[in-house]
Amino acid sequence: MQQLQSGRHFLQIPGPTNVPDRILRSIERPTIDHRGPEFKGLCFEVLEGIKEIFQTREPVIIYPASGTGAWEAALVNTHSSGEKVLMYDTGHFASTWYKLAIKLGLDAQLLPGSWREGVKPDEIEQALSEDKDRNIKSVCVVHNDTATGITSDIPAIRKAIDKSGHNALLCVDTISSLGSIDYRHDDWGVDVTVGGSQKGLMLPPGLSFNAVSKIAIAASERANLPRSYWDWQDMLKANKEGVFPYTPSTNLLYGLREAIRMLLEEGLDQVFYRHGRLADAARASVKAWELELNAVNLREYSNSLTAVLLPKKHDADEFRKVVLENFNVSLGNGLGKLNGKLFRIGHLGDFNEPMLLGTLGAIEMGLELSKIPHRPDGLRAAMDSLVNKN
Ligand SMILES: *Cc1c(COP(=O)(O)O)cnc(C)c1O
Repeated sequence: MQQLQSGRHFLQIPGPTNVPDRILRSIERPTIDHRGPEFKGLCFEVLEGIKEIFQTREPVIIYPASGTGAWEAALVNTHSSGEKVLMYDTGHFASTWYKLAIKLGLDAQLLPGSWREGVKPDEIEQALSEDKDRNIKSVCVVHNDTATGITSDIPAIRKAIDKSGHNALLCVDTISSLGSIDYRHDDWGVDVTVGGSQKGLMLPPGLSFNAVSKIAIAASERANLPRSYWDWQDMLKANKEGVFPYTPSTNLLYGLREAIRMLLEEGLDQVFYRHGRLADAARASVKAWELELNAVNLREYSNSLTAVLLPKKHDADEFRKVVLENFNVSLGNGLGKLNGKLFRIGHLGDFNEPMLLGTLGAIEMGLELSKIPHRPDGLRAAMDSLVNKN
């Protein structure tokens, strides 16, 4: 049996994130009739409120599902069997979405990436320009690849699509950036945005989202991939009446209502600023330790997580185990081909300076216990960064 560890567990993986008490209390209620009058009020409120978080006026569909469900929904609603999809390999999440597209019978192409840099818009532009017959139906990219700690420039990708004169849809996964890194569904001209509950939205896992443009809805009227549970049309029709086509995650919707209130009370600009400030401090620590960030381009550094490479011969999973067993702090593992090579610090969601310093302190002690070469100056550097940038 595992020994009891006192104090709070630090869940510093880049999602699921720590759920604030306010949200936990809002979920802890009797479940209500999801076709009754009380539910209608909740339903309309969250459907309106969530638009502000996606920075959109278009409908946002809420699924009782993990993020993967919303990935699938984005594809099956907009494509017909065998259609071409253009994707870009920014990390494990981009490549997993690609595999899902292949399983659905789509002709997906994954432009190769180094997993250390974001999407290169000129490569998207070139691929679209070469597609003379306009067979590519959509460009699907991950805004913030949670496996590699890299944020791609979505407006630049939109521009690249427009420059090529191509009419492909733009679909963006914002699961680990929504509510932590600035994201604008409307201003950035995105057709389908995929979101999830358990990262920047500070909720438990179990809800996911599709924000959908008019162009995407029009495409869904022609798309013939089989779909039932994920069908936007059924959902949009039911949502107009304040209901779902099936039983929604009623209690998680209470949580979502609270999460939206919290984000708007703090103000989205302040939320994004706070994430940037904490991320800067985390990166200052990594630099001071003389360890290597996985992301190589400054402008692509993720503000929701930091992926840190360990020197060769040191196993990142062994290191994470030391930190968990000694200090009750969970860090993210290396996914896919990065397994064992890096660890990830989640600094998104309900998070502040002392939580960050606690996390970084546990990491610094873990580096020492694991005999991983480093300079023991990380905490000082993080504190300096926080004090100097208010
Ligand atoms: C977490 C995550 C997913 C997967 O979401 P699940 O809820 O695990 O299905 C997809 N994309 C990104 C960028 C993520 O961070």
